[in-house]
Amino acid sequence: MSAPNPDHQPLVEGPRDPEHDPAATYALDPGYVARLTARVLATTGEAKEVLSPLDGAPLAHIPQSSDADVEEAFARARVAQEKWARTPVKDRERVLLRLHDLVLARQEEILDLIVLETGKARKHAFDEPLHIALTARYYGRTTAKHLRSERRPGVFPALTRIDVNHVPKGVVGIISPWNYPFTLGLCDGLAAIAAGNAVVAKPDSQTMLTALLGAELLEEAGLPRDLWMVVAGPGSKVGTSIIDRADYICFTGSTATGKIIGKQCAERLIGSSLELGGKNAMLVLADADIEKAAEGATRAVFSNTGQLCVSIERMYVADAIYDRFVERFVARTQAMTLGATLSWENDMGSLISQDQLDNAVAHVDDAVAQGATVLTGGKARPDLSPYFFEPTILEGVTPAMTCFGTETFGPVVSIYRVTSDEEAVDRANEGEYGLNASIYSRDTARARRLAARVKAGTVNINEAFAATFASLDAPMGGFRESGTGRRQGAEGLLRYTETQSVATQRLVRMSPMFGMSDEAYAKLMTSSLRALKAVGRA
Ligand code: NAD
Repeated sequence: MSAPNPDHQPLVEGPRDPEHDPAATYALDPGYVARLTARVLATTGEAKEVLSPLDGAPLAHIPQSSDADVEEAFARARVAQEKWARTPVKDRERVLLRLHDLVLARQEEILDLIVLETGKARKHAFDEPLHIALTARYYGRTTAKHLRSERRPGVFPALTRIDVNHVPKGVVGIISPWNYPFTLGLCDGLAAIAAGNAVVAKPDSQTMLTALLGAELLEEAGLPRDLWMVVAGPGSKVGTSIIDRADYICFTGSTATGKIIGKQCAERLIGSSLELGGKNAMLVLADADIEKAAEGATRAVFSNTGQLCVSIERMYVADAIYDRFVERFVARTQAMTLGATLSWENDMGSLISQDQLDNAVAHVDDAVAQGATVLTGGKARPDLSPYFFEPTILEGVTPAMTCFGTETFGPVVSIYRVTSDEEAVDRANEGEYGLNASIYSRDTARARRLAARVKAGTVNINEAFAATFASLDAPMGGFRESGTGRRQGAEGLLRYTETQSVATQRLVRMSPMFGMSDEAYAKLMTSSLRALKAVGRA
């Protein structure tokens, strides 16, 4: 083992190259693990073992929190939040801008940890510090503008002044999944603290180290430690303890869990944003640039090994170009470099766990048993790493097959032939989800007109998902069972505030004056209302 890691030197013993011996194992520096896990507020004495998908060997033991620990986390966060809400917005923005620099400077350490915990390809891990740097810069530059109090017209022109304020909610609970542990562990919370809130975070049990590194970087950027409390444990237990105490919940995860959390928040009458699952469609129109669409399709389907809420699992391809497109998409997929190592050379990495592998195998086996054709892939690859599954393209998928409408959340796509744009849009709108869609066409104006008819919170034209995801001013979220609420943009910040209207009345009051009778007052008001409508006032 190497020495403790104060200077953020490489963390591991273990191979970095793609052609490594699969029997070799990775080891994290114990001092490094201890430094990160000390941030978890946990007094139970219990710890959960985490395995690395790279080798299936133990990576760390994460201390587990109790209900009393969550109580303590909220108590500390509430005290810190009162002071933070009075901290000038410019000072809050400065913390985010320092985080931006720290994330870029420490990216190799961040990438190592993400790959070790998730097994994803390093190039896909890079999307995470990239997205956090973009988010930190965006809210670091725009929070004052979004939070500025706004003047609105009052009931009596010139006599009633209205100021609309944005007041922080208080302490926000953030429950996040494992698939983007750095991005989803941090990005929603950055908007919450920028708006003047504190955060109590419960990252997924599999990816606590990456989330804890995020919390450490925030403190180094100048955020008071108690403003970002981290607890650990099973969602049904620790997540519920958080919902019982929070002023607002931001949840990212499956639709099934989102429905449970939505009900619990409704019972407490607290708000929530629920960023949930999808079964996202790509439409390849007859005039698409085939090579560009095939390149986009490989990223759309296989980024993050398909464990991406906005990844594409259904493709509707115009009959006129179907055969040429499929030939290019399959060829590009077969040319991908597969591997589960820390190297930059892999085009696709491992699934994160045995559960994820079992799910991908079950979806493909079910489809094949019922007559679907595997155009490429379709098999587990234990020779590469314990949970590896090949990038897989299916043809001939029917509604009877599980993968037709159920999210696989793995590197598996079903491809269908369509005869018109109308059919492509109708098929894309099937099912209950509505998270993301992608349209490839040379006629971008026509693609934008079609996009308005697609039931999805984001639509990317001539791109898979990254154009909306990386455009931080663009709100992101789901229609239908893909969720409620939006992250990013003004919407992503203002969800963490209460809207307060302050009216200042002058000269006249809102009742009869100067001895006027109620009847005369009613007549005066009636003629005033008519006059205000006549002059076009809202
Ligand atoms: P999950 O719902 O099982 O778990 C997500 C988080 O919720 C974890 O931290 C978990 O511990 C916690 N949790 C589980 N049960 C809970 C409960 N009863 N109360 C409170 N918390 C609970 O989801 P997952 O399998 O980890 O993630 C994959 C899913 O997330 C996929 O469906 C994917 O599409 C979705 N996702 C959506 C987005 C988005 O932005 N829309 C982003 C990433 C992932």
